[in-house]
Amino acid sequence: RAKHDGRGGYRFFEPAMDAEARKRRQMELDLHDAIAGGQLSLMFQPLFNLSEARVSAFEALLRWNHPTRGLVSPADFIPLAEDTGLILPIGEWVIREACRAARHWPDHVRIAVNVSPVQFRSPGLSAVILQALAESGLAPHRLELEITESLFIDNPAATLSSLHGLRDLGVRVALDDFGTGYSSLSYLRAFPFDKIKIDRSFIMDLLSSDGATAIIRSITTLAEALGMETTAEGVENAGQLDILREQGCSHIQGFYFSKPISEAHVAAMLHDDAPPAMRLAS
Ligand code: C2E
Ligand code: MG
Ligand code: MG
Ligand code: MG
Repeated sequence: RAKHDGRGGYRFFEPAMDAEARKRRQMELDLHDAIAGGQLSLMFQPLFNLSEARVSAFEALLRWNHPTRGLVSPADFIPLAEDTGLILPIGEWVIREACRAARHWPDHVRIAVNVSPVQFRSPGLSAVILQALAESGLAPHRLELEITESLFIDNPAATLSSLHGLRDLGVRVALDDFGTGYSSLSYLRAFPFDKIKIDRSFIMDLLSSDGATAIIRSITTLAEALGMETTAEGVENAGQLDILREQGCSHIQGFYFSKPISEAHVAAMLHDDAPPAMRLAS
């Protein structure tokens, strides 16, 4: 089926686009059922404090176990959830579930939760956080919200005021995927983030490019001067770890230490974190 495109040519790709649109519409409907159907779950990936040689936090990572498609990656369904507004109930579920999971962990172990820009801009976020903290009994300083640089592009003033509002609740704020967006040093000065998470792309280049090492060095120097922690994302081998340690990175996260694990495995790791700690001890 070719359609006239109104400019003297023909388009042959429309049936394929219809199929794509139909699939998307179906995924949208399915996503509606995901929460009530118990298809969402969280995995937890540890963040390791290098100087204390122990786990300092777990990041909650969302999983969707679709009835027929199997495990759908968050990279595939978060954008859909954002477009449809479903990110609000899903994001609320994540915050409550993450706080519930963390409530019996040791005091020094935090829970980090990713907050989508859409969720961040929604007026209800503070109330959701307050309720999750109240019902779990989790101390606010043990909850760390991960936001991305993209929030500063549209309306930096509103973003700053929301960030201060969240800080007033007593929760921590981390800047995720640092270096990938429209990085600007001005917002590092404007808001005292607790932590900068250096994007995995810089870690991937560490063993092949001196430039990547220099970038890590400048980020950790800057962060330290500003009183912020640094976490390197996506650390996959000992060579990367050595460089990160040398360049003054305070925390690492990645498959080299641990993949995302289930809540039950978190308990086991916290009970006996000797094996990974031994591997990482300098
Ligand atoms: P992110 O927040 O930057 O999370 C890190 C991602 O890198 C996770 O992918 C994690 O599994 C992966 N990763 C960790 N260590 C390594 C490593 O050593 N090597 C490699 N290759 N990958 C590693 P995941 O779980 O697929 O999540 C992807 C993204 O989806 C997250 O990136 C985050 O932006 C988003 N996301 C996940 N859960 C949520 C959520 O609950 N809410 C929102 N809004 N976004 C979420
Ligand atoms: Mg994150
Ligand atoms: Mg990240
Ligand atoms: Mg990332």
